[in-house]
Amino acid sequence: MYEFAVTPAVTNIRRRGAEITEVEPASLGAELELEPGDRITKVNGRPVRDYLDFRFHTSGETRLVVEVRRRDGEDWELDIAREESEDFGLSFEQIVPRQCANECIFCFCKGNPTDARPSLFIRDEDIRLSFLYGNYTTLTSLTEDELGRIIEQRLSPQYVSVHATDLKVRAYLLGVDEQRADITQKLVRLLDAGINVHAQVVLCPAINDGEILRRTIADLAAEYPRISSVAIVPLGLTRYNTDTRLTPVTPDFCRGIIREVTEIQKELRTRLGTTFAFLGDEIYLRAGSAVPGRRHYGDYPQIEDGIGMVRSFETDFDKLLERLQRRPPKQPSKVYGTILTGTLFAPVLAKRIASMNNRFGTRVQVEAVENNYFGGDVSVAGLLTGCDLLAAQDRIQGDFLLVPKQVLKSDEDIMLDGMTLRELHMKLGLPIHTVDIDSFFSFLA
Ligand code: SF4
Repeated sequence: MYEFAVTPAVTNIRRRGAEITEVEPASLGAELELEPGDRITKVNGRPVRDYLDFRFHTSGETRLVVEVRRRDGEDWELDIAREESEDFGLSFEQIVPRQCANECIFCFCKGNPTDARPSLFIRDEDIRLSFLYGNYTTLTSLTEDELGRIIEQRLSPQYVSVHATDLKVRAYLLGVDEQRADITQKLVRLLDAGINVHAQVVLCPAINDGEILRRTIADLAAEYPRISSVAIVPLGLTRYNTDTRLTPVTPDFCRGIIREVTEIQKELRTRLGTTFAFLGDEIYLRAGSAVPGRRHYGDYPQIEDGIGMVRSFETDFDKLLERLQRRPPKQPSKVYGTILTGTLFAPVLAKRIASMNNRFGTRVQVEAVENNYFGGDVSVAGLLTGCDLLAAQDRIQGDFLLVPKQVLKSDEDIMLDGMTLRELHMKLGLPIHTVDIDSFFSFLA
């Protein structure tokens, strides 16, 4: 473990270039006779490491020299003239994430059962994925080359896990020395170069709350609008994370944080015109408080981090009810089934579904499912597993089962414990649909 903690961020072993996975028929790529399995290695003499490089080096260029390592090992050099807007029609392999060199005391990897899927142990720390998908990085092992790339290719915004601006506390949380934990210079260079940053704090009671949190928010807000928001999300502990340095987040703790941060938010709104420091939905739900209104979240800058999802859901559900008013289900009493979701979100969903049933005569019920796979205080829907859903079998009524889309891997019908949707369907013996708010409407209509 120590070895890992001091090793700089590594790149998984990979071949040169970016591999083509698809070529659109009749596209420029097809005309050039490029094929899946070919690798683009250079554009105009500059190395291509991934599809972001390819996009960057080809963007706006009409004359291009593209070097290709063919699937069969042959090397090609293509001299290309194209219209500025002409697309290559190429799809590329996914980016292989770089991994972090930290040992965060709260790392989610430490909270996995030992037999969890290998992908759950990937500690990704990749500025490319930060730009593309809003994944957080700590910047602790950001190399000069990566920093230069962010600036040159305008990989903005970047999502940075700050946790605390107090260096000692940050180093303690990340499990690295203070020199590595200190990202001040890197941040300044990014901000000075016009790279926009969103920050995150994983809130650990008795470590980075109280005065440390107040200072962190103040220090980050001093950089507004270059740093445009900070997400404050609670520590999550599974039954496998038994680190005695960590104190679980309780409803009382959440109520205290809401009181304290609401005051800070008021001051920030007056001074900056934005809430800036957003509390995770989980904090409100666990405190038993209502989530703030629509205006609190502005343009939802941290929605990918679960900030404002409940409010956004409620707004979308109201729209769904309006749509149903215009186009009610043809045989509402036949819309008879069960939705399974996490214990945290179940009361919010149940309230809305009850109002839908009352207005339209549908018969949908919501059942809260405990997360026994991870245990601890894990209560969000996205971490439910096939076994957890199966354990709620006796409470399922009606002709269909709906489960949240997030229980599945993004690119495969498989749940976190390895159970497939098909296996769950075979065990339960009724149709199962994975839904989000839009597909829920299509399902009802
Ligand atoms: S929490 Fe993130 S940065 Fe920290 S050790 Fe885990 S993967 Fe690395």
